[in-house]
Amino acid sequence: MNAEKSSRSNKFIKSALTVDVEDGINIGMRDLMGKNIAPTKRVVSNTHKVMELFSRYNVKGTFFVLGQVAEHYPELVREIDAAGHEIGVHGYDHYQFYRMDYDFAHDQLERARKLLQDLTGQPVEGHRAPAFSINEKTSWGLELLAELGFTYDSSIMPCKSLNYGWGEFGKDLTLVKLANGGELYEFPMSVGKFFGREIPCLGGSYLRLFPGWKNKKMFEEVARERNPIIFIHPYELDEERYPDYFFQELKGKSLKSKVRVKFMSLNRKEVARKLGVLLSNYNHTTMECILKQKLSEKKPIAIYNLGKTKKPMEAANG
Ligand SMILES: [Zn+2]
Repeated sequence: MNAEKSSRSNKFIKSALTVDVEDGINIGMRDLMGKNIAPTKRVVSNTHKVMELFSRYNVKGTFFVLGQVAEHYPELVREIDAAGHEIGVHGYDHYQFYRMDYDFAHDQLERARKLLQDLTGQPVEGHRAPAFSINEKTSWGLELLAELGFTYDSSIMPCKSLNYGWGEFGKDLTLVKLANGGELYEFPMSVGKFFGREIPCLGGSYLRLFPGWKNKKMFEEVARERNPIIFIHPYELDEERYPDYFFQELKGKSLKSKVRVKFMSLNRKEVARKLGVLLSNYNHTTMECILKQKLSEKKPIAIYNLGKTKKPMEAANG
């Protein structure tokens, strides 16, 4: 047995395999160019690539789907569900929590959850915020999720990062007790050490840019303490050039926007292989399964009394 395969015998290692189902083209058009377009068909073909990859390694995951994707491509949601994966909510139009007020966020989440539940005929229990946008300032979002009936959330990056992060939040599965009387389980995202600093890992640009051995090392470091959380976006497996209209719009934009597009497309050809390294070496399941398993173990679960939250300061930009 070679070293790569032997680590599969580490039965304690089981990750929550998660996918944020969104279209890179329409989100990029809106957030970088200020142009609203519907999600393109690429979200369907790219999500199929993710599903094929999962099927090759015989693993199930949790797909946090945007309401707008479900609205335009309902069949995709049915396919994900029929393949045995869990469906969760990733918002409706991919607005980060700091861009919404309470009522607007309520409408976005309620619509997305209802749409996904109607399509699958199953209750949708989990949520992931766009861009991990729940932190100290937007923690009112957790109250909203509990109010809407979600069982768990997985939106907090428990380290300080450039654009997101809640450094003081714990790293383990936590039962958050809310001032409105509600409660919600929170699965904080995985963080790892890099030159002595804590950084996000096992997903997005971190998974794309780190070499395979580093991803494995970080997975095993996290797995010694808790269930790792892997996250990917279907567009990260898109190796084709974006449509010409995308680059036409980008021409007149700032250097920062151009650099961001370049950065987001780096190493896409490597994603399937790098993800495959993690999928073949360890065990993976849905977030719902991990939550059930943790609750059945009857071991103490961390509790966080959130107390009174601040209300959102900025109005939604609709
Ligand atoms: Zn997203």
